[in-house]
Amino acid sequence: MVAADPLSITLDPEKAALLARLADGLAPEQLYWVAAWSAARAGQTERSTGRIDAPAGTAQAPRLTILYGSQTGNARRLAEQLAARSESDGLPARLVRADAYGLRELARETHLLIVISTQGEGEPPDDARGFVEFVVGKRAPRMPGLHYAVLGLGDSSYPQFCAIGRQLDARLAELGASRLAPLGEADVDIDQVAIPWSAKALGQAREALGRTRSVTRNATVHTLPARSTHSREHPFAATVLGNQRIVSRESERAVHHLELSLKGSGLRYAPGDAIGIWPVNPPALVEQFLHALRLDGADEVTHDGRTLPLARWLGRERELTRLTRAFVAAHAAASGHADLMRVLRKENAASFAELLASHQPIDLLHRYRAVWRAEELVAALRPLTPRLYSIASSPRAVGEEEVHLTVARVEYEAFGMPHWGAASAFLSATEDAAVVPVFIETNDRFRLPADDRRDIIMIGPGTGVAPFRAFVQDRHETGARGRNWLLFGNRHFTRDFLYQVEWQEALKAGALHRLDLAFSRDGARKVYVQDRLREQGRELYAWLEGGAHLYVCGDATHMAKDVHATLLDIAIAHGGHSPDTAREWLTDLLTQGRYARDVY
Ligand code: NAP
Repeated sequence: MVAADPLSITLDPEKAALLARLADGLAPEQLYWVAAWSAARAGQTERSTGRIDAPAGTAQAPRLTILYGSQTGNARRLAEQLAARSESDGLPARLVRADAYGLRELARETHLLIVISTQGEGEPPDDARGFVEFVVGKRAPRMPGLHYAVLGLGDSSYPQFCAIGRQLDARLAELGASRLAPLGEADVDIDQVAIPWSAKALGQAREALGRTRSVTRNATVHTLPARSTHSREHPFAATVLGNQRIVSRESERAVHHLELSLKGSGLRYAPGDAIGIWPVNPPALVEQFLHALRLDGADEVTHDGRTLPLARWLGRERELTRLTRAFVAAHAAASGHADLMRVLRKENAASFAELLASHQPIDLLHRYRAVWRAEELVAALRPLTPRLYSIASSPRAVGEEEVHLTVARVEYEAFGMPHWGAASAFLSATEDAAVVPVFIETNDRFRLPADDRRDIIMIGPGTGVAPFRAFVQDRHETGARGRNWLLFGNRHFTRDFLYQVEWQEALKAGALHRLDLAFSRDGARKVYVQDRLREQGRELYAWLEGGAHLYVCGDATHMAKDVHATLLDIAIAHGGHSPDTAREWLTDLLTQGRYARDVY
């Protein structure tokens, strides 16, 4: 037997990062328990092999791994469904989030299904950054023994539709792996592609692996959905307990604080989670559609085997506030308008993106006249999708059967007409006792540190502050020992200081230790949260070096990117980093789960 010298056993960087993440936040007695467990496991390994060498689990029977990378929860939900289906088919499957996957395992993997979304301008979800970088990078091994299939998720209205799914699918083939099923490219109407893709991919995997008895769920990396019969597909009818405007009358934009009852739903949530809302489109907008197309809302329309009055299709079943490529194409065909045909051409991608950003479907109906039959209209409009709001309450503070959210009402004039955002108009107009269809979307990547001694830094301009209300409430209720630092920004101090009184009380009560504010439109020059970050760079870096966790919530397109760039600058200015090591430092924080983002 070879004596195991712990100092000579080194971990590869992925395992080390995973271990650090696992250990992060454990209390001393838990760490001792882990040490004892590891020692016992090492003893077993020694007894069975006579020496300690590779990590356990190298010689396994072929099995199916289902890996997902998810930003808003859709990819995770599909991967969970895939695993459940695999389970009911008697096919062993391991469900794993991309950032919990040991990258070295890839070389040994035999059957792999990947479900992954593409964000913004062709980026992977935060939890899959490391995985994607590894697979497309030079270190990826050749994988002639791997059978795989990729389901990409995206939005076909954007040029980088499913870019990450495509990239992984092509790269795995390049590395010698063989496809179990062709790449699936699911649009916002996910199930249309996901259902047949899942059937095909699982069918092929089953054929390749043969049926066996049990499923091995990797419980350490997989979050079980909340114990409730309610879900995205079967939402709970939550009663509105309160709806209050929390900005002044002069504010250019209405922001509402909503309180909903989850009583009797069985739904549970934790700070960091989001609540999914199935909106009802503004009745005035449904009227605009019917009027523009001279259609009757009472007419019965059959689509996909369901018959409903047209007004119901438009009010509750179809996206009326978001323009899509499919609708532009259908309306170009219906109106025969050359401008619309032109903008759809590949070489006009920039004009097309501009059209999507500035127009809603109703604007096209007004601008380019066409005759639509009700059935065609229902078929051409995208099915309504739920909207996610970060939860603004802690169940410890408000009770398990209540949930709060912060909603900025989207309402503006364009082309001489009022325009709305579907969910924000719906929610902000609700009255007491109204009913809202909801579900909980868990977000394990946006959690308070388990070790309550850790400091936290929360960056949340605008309604991005919502989850930090939940965090501060929760840390107060649990008597967490770490410090809480909030950076909040909005347009005007006097009009838009969301939850001002609560923050001031939290400061007094010692539940908030630092509050930095950036009101962008009060002075001659715009001031943003990242300007405050920069001013406090030295202190921020010191907090992070002391083990603080950093959270960013809000706009993904500009704010989150600018904050990211500022964090790199701070690491260079105050941590003595080069641009390269600053990037590594920040990536490390991400991998360790100490830099978490809830942005969209
Ligand atoms: P907003 O009005 O868009 O912006 C809030 C503040 O951020 C304003 O002072 C704005 O300044 C400033 N700002 C603009 N560009 C910035 C940049 N590049 N960097 C830093 N600050 C910048 O806020 P909001 O309408 O409340 O929206 C917040 C965002 O959070 C939305 O994108 C929403 O989808 C997202 N979000 C909300 C939730 C939720 O639960 N409610 C959760 C996650 C994400 P100026 O306007 O003066 O330039």
